[in-house]
Amino acid sequence: MNNFSETTKQYLKSDSSLFIDGKRCTATGEEITPVINACNGKHIYSLRDASNSDVDAAVAAARSAFNSGWKTMGPEQRAGLMLEFARLIDEHSEALSELESLECATPISISVSTIRYWCAAFIRYYAGWVDKIQGDTIPGAPFLYPDNQFLAYTKYEPVGVVAAITPWNAPVAMLILKLGPALASGCSLVIKPAEITPLTAIYVAELALKAGIPAGVVNIVQGKGETVGQYLSGHTGIDKISFTGSTAVGKRIVIAATGNLKKVSLELGGKSPFVIFPDANLEDAVPAAAMACFFLSGQNCMAATRLYVHESIHGEVIKVLTNIAEAMESGDALNPKTQLGPLISEKQRQQVHAKVEKAVEAGGVLLTGGKIPEGPGFYYPPTLIDNTEVSMDIVQQEVFGPVLAITTFGDDIEALITDINSTIYGLSGSVWTKDINKALKMVDAIDSGQVGINSHAALIPGVPFGGNKQSGWGREFGYEGLLPYLKIKAVTIKY
Ligand code: NAD
Repeated sequence: MNNFSETTKQYLKSDSSLFIDGKRCTATGEEITPVINACNGKHIYSLRDASNSDVDAAVAAARSAFNSGWKTMGPEQRAGLMLEFARLIDEHSEALSELESLECATPISISVSTIRYWCAAFIRYYAGWVDKIQGDTIPGAPFLYPDNQFLAYTKYEPVGVVAAITPWNAPVAMLILKLGPALASGCSLVIKPAEITPLTAIYVAELALKAGIPAGVVNIVQGKGETVGQYLSGHTGIDKISFTGSTAVGKRIVIAATGNLKKVSLELGGKSPFVIFPDANLEDAVPAAAMACFFLSGQNCMAATRLYVHESIHGEVIKVLTNIAEAMESGDALNPKTQLGPLISEKQRQQVHAKVEKAVEAGGVLLTGGKIPEGPGFYYPPTLIDNTEVSMDIVQQEVFGPVLAITTFGDDIEALITDINSTIYGLSGSVWTKDINKALKMVDAIDSGQVGINSHAALIPGVPFGGNKQSGWGREFGYEGLLPYLKIKAVTIKY
């Protein structure tokens, strides 16, 4: 604690339960959620959950801000406020990174680069869209209406008050992914972060206010998903839900949204494939495969947790991969040398371990890892399971831990494609080869929202990101990421 910056120390002493209409306030719910440092198991913070009336107040504040000037603010002013918000994120990135590494054990080197560079860039990118949100002019239909001439045009309007419900992994970036397009479109928000990582959200909301974004545009309610999140999802004062989290909860949100037929966009789980062909540059591909699986200890939605490797290079690939996995530096998230932090909780670690044991019982061959280490914290080693097959749970289910399922393929590319597309997910994936024809054939065949060629899940603000199948509805990033926050109005003029 003593090594934190003064700003972080002060922030940790304050009440982080609610932020409504530009002010921090204390939640009035009954339940308390403990926030635990996953690196040592120690208690950091007690979060009081929001009550239903707290949520009502946040929704009312968001509606009032939306109607009193925010939705109609001119593009120059709106973009200017967003650029100032991005500048402040950059300026406060040290404290935000420390808080994020404390609340979800992201290695500090990753928190710093994500928040200082990536999050600020993402808000700047959407600030650039503000004055480019425009409709079309559409010709009339003289054949159908010979006696009348019509001019028709379309315009985009903000969808209204958005409930943004976010997961615990990379909590600052998850907020920013909602804030960028929502603010650019002129929506106001009630954000419910994951209850186990509540520390950064109010900090970010306060920066938005400091940047000049009006009070009430960004509101934060906190607490458990099944109570606070569920109530918010069903709230008739909400026009749209933007949800990021598990597929199981995504389905519950869809049901809760039916009351007033809210618009819903979903960024859900994944089980992304990483395919290495024999002609790939293995010096690039193998370290990238390790990184694609073990980044954030496998606790990220686009993690490549299925490795498909051609039989002719299998031995070489698993040898290098094992060396990389065993050399990875795991440790306290606040140590700048740490590459791998712990898993988020003991419960999560037990779930990951149970999946590994089950895979080995089913015939998987453990190459490295797979053992719960001694000592404090919820660490789990990088784990490689070879000899996996399409029928195994370890190949089909999201693990959300540093566990790579390795499957060997031969020259039957159609069989490979069938295996790749066999899961319920379709978020990300990559193919590694020097043969562009082979690469493009795989791009066409893989049923997922994005496919990398000789790269895995490059997160570029202008490139749409999201899932097919049960990995989601809609896209974030880019112009496509703006559309779910807008509604189109068609105007016809007879003349
Ligand atoms: P989760 O689904 O358990 O929780 C996500 C959020 O939903 C939390 O804020 C939680 O409190 C809330 N919630 C839980 N139950 C709810 C309910 N009944 N009604 C409303 N809200 C509810 O997910 P998690 O464990 O926090 O995050 C991990 C999951 O998120 C993984 O499946 C991961 O793949 C996914 N994820 C997806 C993306 C993406 O962009 N596709 C990004 C990050 C994480």
